[in-house]
Formats: sequence, structure tokens, C-alpha cells
Amino acid sequence: MRALVTGCAGFIGSHLTESLLRDGHAVVGVDCFNDNYARPQKLANLAHAQAWDHFDFVPIDLARGDLYSLVVESDCVFHLAAEPGVRASWGRRFEHYLRNNVLATQHLLEAARKVPDTPFVYASSSSIYGQAETLPTSEDTLPQPFSPYGVTKLAGENLCRLYHANHAVRTVSLRYFSVYGPRQRPDMAFYSFCQAALAGEEIVVYGDGEQTRDFTYVDDIVTATRVAATRPTAAGGVFNVGGGSQVSVNHALNILAEFTTRALGVRYLESEHGDVRDTGADTTRARHLLGFEARTEIENGLAAELEWVESTLPGNRQRVGPSSFVEGR
Ligand code: NAD
Repeated sequence: MRALVTGCAGFIGSHLTESLLRDGHAVVGVDCFNDNYARPQKLANLAHAQAWDHFDFVPIDLARGDLYSLVVESDCVFHLAAEPGVRASWGRRFEHYLRNNVLATQHLLEAARKVPDTPFVYASSSSIYGQAETLPTSEDTLPQPFSPYGVTKLAGENLCRLYHANHAVRTVSLRYFSVYGPRQRPDMAFYSFCQAALAGEEIVVYGDGEQTRDFTYVDDIVTATRVAATRPTAAGGVFNVGGGSQVSVNHALNILAEFTTRALGVRYLESEHGDVRDTGADTTRARHLLGFEARTEIENGLAAELEWVESTLPGNRQRVGPSSFVEGR
């Protein structure tokens, strides 16, 4: 199989790319090195894929240019490129969200329209739900985004749905819930918690820490994303992809404190605009139609992320336990 992966230099896209390459598939990866975080981190992500012969990198911006030849030569499209992050989506930066989340998705779907049988998997987000009234939240819940980011991810999802309804494009939207693990984006909570914990610095938490998230390990996300492309019955559908264990931020900090064997200094600030109180995925649909079940316990996943953050520190300062979590990687 020859897969097209957009956002291949990003956190999740780079893991998906490598997973496909490891299984012998050819991958064409697209990324424009958007400035949402430092280019060297994206280059480091990409370096792993570039070690494979059957990987081709195409450095283009999906919001412009003709994407037809890229799509027509692919057996499958995984569309992960986006402008992610809730907090930065207010104010002037919203233009980037419109461009990278809505316009880029529409361009890719226009190309896909000419080859409708090609599976098209779209990385949507739990942020489309907003302040969910029912937990765990099922896909039938009315989407009511609470941030400009969520609005643009829902717009992308709606584009996928309508290209399926009008042009029979084989789209599947996956609503990822709080993804974490090695290579996590630097604006995400676990990354900054791990960095501060290793450096013995104060950890900043927005809110009282009792807010809960359905944290989902990146390998589980990759599994669900790959399976979604192989199930014709999933076409036109939306699926929650969540970790199956909803825990509070304070609970995650306690786990981190055990790993680093020191008390963590935590400063609690007001929660930020756009932050929701709780998220929790009802994954019944994904279990039935995709055979998906998250496998990674938060303790193991957080250990893997901590180990990775440590490996990126200058001089590789200290070793932390528990020992390597490398299962399935
Ligand atoms: P990321 O920023 O690490 O990766 C996204 C990549 O897309 C970046 O490398 C960026 O340069 C690229 N990109 C952005 N706009 C582009 C464009 N116009 N053309 C080409 N490349 C472009 O983000 P991530 O955390 O890996 O997220 C991947 C996807 O998963 C996104 O669609 C995001 O909305 C979705 N998602 C992520 C999470 C999470 O917890 N990380 C949760 C829900 C949904």
C-alpha cells in the first residue's frame, strides 16, 4: 500500500508514518513546518521516517497548490495536518486555524473527490464536543465546541461528511481525545509537566487540577487511525478514539511524582478561555465497528513520555524510572 500522510512531521503524524513504514508500506509524507512550535522538533520527528527508503517527503502547504497528483497516486489518505491547540486559537491566530484546518481540508477533499474509493481518514478532535453534558460522551451528542479551534475541527469534520454524502468520498472522522506520548507538542500539558519535573522547576496547571481528561496514548491513536482506513463500513462515519480511562490532571501529576521520586511544586492558575472541565470518550462505536480498544495504561504511557522528554534534555541529565516502556514500538 502507498499511503499519503499529511502532517507527517508532527507529533501524531510522525508516529503514524513510522508505523506504516515498519509494516512495509510506502508513505508519501506532506508537511509545511507550520510555526506552531519549533522547526527543529519537527525535523527531529521527521528524521525517523527519512531513514526509510520507501518514504518520500513533500514539503508543501495543503492550503495552496494542486493536490490531485498526490492523492491519485495514493491508496489511502491520512489527513492529520492541522493547526492544533485550544489556547492559541483566540485572536489573530484564528486566521491560521481557518487556513490550516478548514481550507487545507477542503483542498484535500476536492482532490479526493476525483478518486472517491480511496479511504480518507480525518483527524478530528474531542474539542468538537465543548462542555459535554454527558460523560462518557457518545458520537450522537450535539457538538458544541467551546473554542475557536474546536469550531474549525468541526468544520473539517462536516466537510468530510458532506464530501461523503455528495461525492461518495470514503471519509472517516476520528475524534481523538487528549493524545500523549513521546514527541508530544511542547504546548501540551504532559510535555511541560515532564520538563518541569525533570528540571525540578515549578509546574503550572491551569485550573484546580481536578479537571479530567480521557488521555490516549499515541500508539493507540495510530492503531485506530490505521484500522479506520481498512473498514468500508466506517465510510461517512465519526468515531471517538479515547483512552478508556478518564483521570484528573492531579492524578497524572501524582504518577509523575512517583516516577521522579520527588514532590512536585505545582502552581495553580485560573483556567484559560476555551478549556473544558471534563472529557470522556464513549468508545462503544469504535469497539463495534473498528474493533478498537485502547491498550495503554496511563502509568506506562506517561513513563514513556517522561523517558522521551528526558532523552531530549541537553546532556541527558538524569535517569528516571521505571525502566523503558517500549512495548509495541
Ligand atoms: P502537530 O502540530 O504536531 O502536527 C500537525 C502537523 O501539520 C505539523 O507538523 C504542521 O507543520 C503540519 N501542518 C499544519 N498545517 C499544514 C498545512 N497547511 N500544510 C501542510 N502541513 C501542515 O499536531 P498533532 O498534535 O500531531 O495533531 C495531529 C492532528 O491530530 C491534528 O489534526 C489535530 O487537530 C488532531 N488532534 C490532536 C490531538 C492531540 O492531543 N495532540 C487531539 C485531538 C486531535
